[in-house]
Amino acid sequence: MTAHPLFDISGRTALVTGAGRGIGLALARGLAEAGCTVVLNGRDAGRLTRAAAELPGDRDRIHTAVFDVTDGTSVAAGIADVEERVGPLDILVNNAGIQLRAPLLEFADADWHRILDTNLTSAFLVGREAARRMTERGHGKIINICSLQSEVVRPGIAPYAATKGALKMLTKGMCAEWGPSGVQVNGLGPGYIETELTRPLVDDEEFGAWVRRRTPAGRWGRTEDLVGGVLFLASHAADFVSGQILYVDGGMTSVL
Ligand code: NAP
Repeated sequence: MTAHPLFDISGRTALVTGAGRGIGLALARGLAEAGCTVVLNGRDAGRLTRAAAELPGDRDRIHTAVFDVTDGTSVAAGIADVEERVGPLDILVNNAGIQLRAPLLEFADADWHRILDTNLTSAFLVGREAARRMTERGHGKIINICSLQSEVVRPGIAPYAATKGALKMLTKGMCAEWGPSGVQVNGLGPGYIETELTRPLVDDEEFGAWVRRRTPAGRWGRTEDLVGGVLFLASHAADFVSGQILYVDGGMTSVL
């Protein structure tokens, strides 16, 4: 049995931000398995080298790019370097993100700016830099990793939800502005996925049980659960899909 040609993304070049571990690494692996040339981004060169070594495929199809996605100058230099060294980007996955949990009344100014910079400004900076080139070439796919918290929130994570809600609207704005130039921009909204970011929640038995009860699928998500959605949004099968957020959350956003 062969896959439908609409889903064939082999030979494309993809950049995944925050790809040294967790969701970003799983998405980079999925794209590599689908035959893409993949560039893994992050701030820790050693971690990226180890992550790249784990990925399947010819070594000349796996690359790393060390830059901080919150810093405009580094982002501009990083994207220029990737395009020169690896080739024109067809796919960008804006995945880098952090979580800082604290009651809003106690949330520090510096943490507010850090979470906004990492989860929201980064997608603007990297997205704009990639889209400057993609719109000129007349094609490209950008996938912003949003969240269940683009829609709903609970106490203690208001700033995170604010960044992810705004990222949803940035996705729609990018769709409006870059769609006419052949660039489709969509979001993927993971539910509760086991990674380092959610480690404190996974380790909390009561919270873990709540997640399982609250999720129609009855379990935590795994990073591999997100791969199919990204491959779809990166493919020709999604050429007329733009400005959408695909929630991959075991059904959690649909139920009370
Ligand atoms: P994670 O395991 O903590 O990984 C986050 C990645 O982001 C790391 O590889 C980190 O790399 C990178 N990163 C952080 N700041 C960066 C910066 N300034 N520049 C470049 N890279 C940076 O988190 P995850 O769970 O995989 O989350 C990935 C994305 O999915 C995030 O946007 C998160 O909000 C979203 N998400 C996660 C869940 C979940 O349940 N896990 C649910 C919904 C959405 P370095 O520190 O090495 O630079």
